[in-house]
Amino acid sequence: MTGTQRGTAVVLGASIAGLFAAHALARDHTRVVLVDRDEVIGTDTARRGVPQGHHVHGLLANGQLMAEDLIPGLKRDLLDGGVPMGDLGGQLRWYFNGRRLAPVRTGLVVIGGDRAILEHHIRRRTELLPNTEFRQNTDIVSLVHDDRAARVTGVRVQPRDGGSAEVIDADLVVDASGRGSRTPVWLDSMGYGRVPEESVKIGLSYTTRRFRFRKDPFGADVSVNPVATPEHPRGAFLTTLGGDRCAVSLTGVLGDTPPGGLEEFVEFTRSLPVPDVYEAIRDAEPLGDAVTFRFPASVRRRYEAMGRLPSGLVVMGDAACTFNPVYGQGMTMAALQARVLREQVEGGADPSPRAFYRATRRALDPAWSIATGGDLAFPEVEGKRTPMLRFVNGYLDRLRHAAHDDVRLSEAFLRVIGLVDPPEGLLTPRLALRVLRGGPRAARTRTEPTRVGQGPTP
Ligand SMILES: Cc1cc2nc3c(=O)[nH]c(=O)nc-3n(C[C@H](O)[C@H](O)[C@H](O)COP(=O)(O)OP(=O)(O)OC[C@H]3O[C@@H](n4cnc5c(N)ncnc54)[C@H](O)[C@@H]3O)c2cc1C
Repeated sequence: MTGTQRGTAVVLGASIAGLFAAHALARDHTRVVLVDRDEVIGTDTARRGVPQGHHVHGLLANGQLMAEDLIPGLKRDLLDGGVPMGDLGGQLRWYFNGRRLAPVRTGLVVIGGDRAILEHHIRRRTELLPNTEFRQNTDIVSLVHDDRAARVTGVRVQPRDGGSAEVIDADLVVDASGRGSRTPVWLDSMGYGRVPEESVKIGLSYTTRRFRFRKDPFGADVSVNPVATPEHPRGAFLTTLGGDRCAVSLTGVLGDTPPGGLEEFVEFTRSLPVPDVYEAIRDAEPLGDAVTFRFPASVRRRYEAMGRLPSGLVVMGDAACTFNPVYGQGMTMAALQARVLREQVEGGADPSPRAFYRATRRALDPAWSIATGGDLAFPEVEGKRTPMLRFVNGYLDRLRHAAHDDVRLSEAFLRVIGLVDPPEGLLTPRLALRVLRGGPRAARTRTEPTRVGQGPTP
């Protein structure tokens, strides 16, 4: 414990962002209450409040580092629990337009496997915090505020078993209730007006199936990721779940929904620009049914642009910014926002929402530009394309092409998509020269698919 402690902090939502927030708050509050509509304690499977939990997730390199900083010992728990993890460039296979990024040991760890298991491990650590309690099976109904609506003073909740509604008083409310967050509506009804929102429509669908391999096709690799591009808009994420099991999420954009039926699902993998996924699952034993998730658009709520904000309330995680999931950024951004929150409440300080949004904006901006810039490379996606964006997208296309047999470029690119380095880091003269030398004219040509085991060696 440090400095002066404040009273109660209430966190809306006990998913990844809410759990990170609880760790950020526990040191400087006497009590932290997490409210969630689901039964969360002991749950290690996908649940109703987090439908994306069925689909392949990876906690990117920087997210793993931030999560460990917030929750020391988490990585050890995950390792002991058999959660697959691997080197970002050495054990994850990345393909763009059918060409594999040169494998390279980055020393950066990505945590893969099952999202529900990851959440379960994080929550077990949260349960160990002595001043933290869970109100599960409880609906968040509304915010409670003072007479002038200048300060949020608590939250009204309703147990789902029919018990009576109750107000939990709070010095601070953190909204981590995901993309369906009601804060924009609540702020409007409190007289603050609507929160400015930006969105980029991508019409993305994920369809996921799990399999048991008959023969392990991957050895020490933990995932295979043929990423969607405008040239090859179908993509996939295959991750080992440990042992002989794996999960495969197929992705389609602009209304192309990967089918759920087993035969059609396997057939879809044949339309990917590399055969690895098809070869891995064609003889594998299917486990359970397919699940589909539709993601219409990335949405960013610009709280930092609000003229006025009440004190005692901050919004984070998907509630503040929902990224196109193919870039794997949401959990990392939640961890970064939780770290900002921790700094803001240090020593029992009353966090300024404006300072919080200003600081989190610095973390969100690069990730948002990677995700929306990538989406705007698809000509059908609506949105403004500045000359700079066109230049960057063309440059990245060439860079990925050249990174097929240039480990320096491969590593630099992976550090950016792993959210470790800022995107500008790819524009240094030294890297630009390597990009130019890497065959710019060939950048848009299709190439022969790489077969399993044929990628260049590090
Ligand atoms: C298909 C898909 C794949 C993804 N893949 C990745 C990936 O690879 N890597 C990555 O980092 N991110 C990924 N993401 C994003 C990631 O899932 C989220 O960023 C992450 O879960 C953090 O979200 P959150 O905690 O802010 O909100 P959520 O996980 O959505 O949780 C919100 C919580 O609030 C609760 N809640 C909501 N409303 C109420 C209410 N009224 N009353 C009570 N409780 C309520 C819900 O039950 C839930 O527990 C993916 C997303 C999708 C859709």
